[in-house]
Amino acid sequence: MLKNQNMESIKKGRVFIKTYGCQMNFYDSGLIEDGLLKKGFNNASSLDDADIVILNTCSVRDHADHKIVSEIGRLKGDKKIVLTGCFAKQIKLKREKGIDIHNAGIPIDYCFAPDEILSIPDILANDFEKNYNGDISNRRHKTTTATKDDYQNFNLVEEYFYNKNVNNSFATIKIIEGCNNFCSYCIVPFVRGKERSIPFSIIYNSAKRYADKGVRELLLLGQNVNSYLSPDDDKKDFSYMLESLAKIDGIKKIKFLTSHPKDFNDKLIELICKNDKISKGIHLPVQSGSDKILSAMNRGYTRRDYLNLVEKLRKGYPDAAFSTDIIVGFPTETEEDFNMTLSLIDEVGFDFLFGFKYSPRPFTKAFEIKDDVPLEKKKERLEAVFEKQKKIFNSILNSLKGKRVNATILAVDKEKNSIEFEKGILFKGCGLNDRMIYIVNNNKDIYKNLRIGDERQVEITYVKNNRLYGEVLK
Ligand code: SF4
Repeated sequence: MLKNQNMESIKKGRVFIKTYGCQMNFYDSGLIEDGLLKKGFNNASSLDDADIVILNTCSVRDHADHKIVSEIGRLKGDKKIVLTGCFAKQIKLKREKGIDIHNAGIPIDYCFAPDEILSIPDILANDFEKNYNGDISNRRHKTTTATKDDYQNFNLVEEYFYNKNVNNSFATIKIIEGCNNFCSYCIVPFVRGKERSIPFSIIYNSAKRYADKGVRELLLLGQNVNSYLSPDDDKKDFSYMLESLAKIDGIKKIKFLTSHPKDFNDKLIELICKNDKISKGIHLPVQSGSDKILSAMNRGYTRRDYLNLVEKLRKGYPDAAFSTDIIVGFPTETEEDFNMTLSLIDEVGFDFLFGFKYSPRPFTKAFEIKDDVPLEKKKERLEAVFEKQKKIFNSILNSLKGKRVNATILAVDKEKNSIEFEKGILFKGCGLNDRMIYIVNNNKDIYKNLRIGDERQVEITYVKNNRLYGEVLK
């Protein structure tokens, strides 16, 4: 615990956190911020205004690494630079292995792996107290590190979850960290470590507390949420978790991200389809439509397995909406393989997709294989994927015109005198599934009595620029 007389010096530390990459990183940044504010640090209004810059980094693609190195190069003034996230771990691993890397000499003061983020506030607070005494122009610190895996220290996790700031009707909870799958292109198991599920009781108690504070919608996060298994009770799997959280008073909607297609079982499919509170907007990364490429990627399913899963979910809930991730240009991908991907996109009819050009990542199995699809070809294929997806999404949205749905108001856009229903839409058999609807009632009086969290019936009236617009009916 910091002594009071030292709190003032710590308060001189204005922190700016810049986050790259996936939702896991944004979530982690929230935990870091909460911890630092508790220790007496302040938020800086911009990068330039900061004494301490924390870069919470991504490393899934080569491009992400370069972006971070150049961001550090652009930082001006005498700032403490804290690197965390997947790129930070990559640097540590390379140093451990004695690999000479182009970015080994980048000027950072601290380097924390993703499993060390909960230690950041303590370490910074102690250092500011002992080493800088509020004067950050003191000599650059040697790269510091935590020594333990914070996500195996459940007391620490519990404390962080419990104290996490929640100020609106939506909250995110990380339920599992790391990944055991070792897809051949993916650096995540190396930089985020093996799967560690967070005990059910911590997640459940956090969700209950959030609901008491007005949270209505939960997003459960993890690299592979559907392989969740509470470390203290192997009956408490992902289905158990969803079912239990759905029973909490006040919780109206539960989303989850990301699920691995190979880890869906029939119990989970049935639960998702039957429980009104569980989102039917399902992100299901496929990566490729070719069996040859799926096998080389070590994804653990075939094209047929994937399509069967989609079919089962649609059979249980016909209006289920799917999104996915696609990688183009994986080594040895031929035109024929790529066309299989395009045809799978057609067959499923995704609401949206994240498409990427393959880039070799260090430590992975695919790193050893020749990256033999030329960059121009990768660009061309990615363009074709996006083009196809645009058309599909437009036709999905147009098919919704005239539908009446129950929706929850999540945001109010006063300036435009319209009300924005963000993701979080309730979809009781209506076929909307988390799609955002912008409300543009002709009768403005209807807005007066609307409040965030209200459920209203909405009719979809038109589609413009890939957006749904509708009117509140009552
Ligand atoms: S499931 Fe595969 S792609 Fe996803 S994080 Fe794990 S290794 Fe990476």
